[in-house]
Amino acid sequence: MARLRAVLKMAKSAKKGAPARALIGEVPFTCTVCHGEWFWQDSVHLTSNWQAFGWAKEDATGLLCTQCGYFHLFYNRNLRLYPG
Ligand SMILES: [Zn+2]
Repeated sequence: MARLRAVLKMAKSAKKGAPARALIGEVPFTCTVCHGEWFWQDSVHLTSNWQAFGWAKEDATGLLCTQCGYFHLFYNRNLRLYPG
């Protein structure tokens, strides 16, 4: 459910910004479904559902594929976004 809530939140707000490409470290990231390269991004506040991992006070980064709409959720400080 936390994932669904995050997707719905992003669907409302994500298109406000320009799409970006993503790197994980030095590796370009592409959508796991359609291999698209462009994503709308937003920070996602992790709720109490994540407390078991000790992450509830941290924010994750959600990437919504502009091509197919698949939602990727990252908890990785090496994730970098860059506009086109
Ligand atoms: Zn995609």
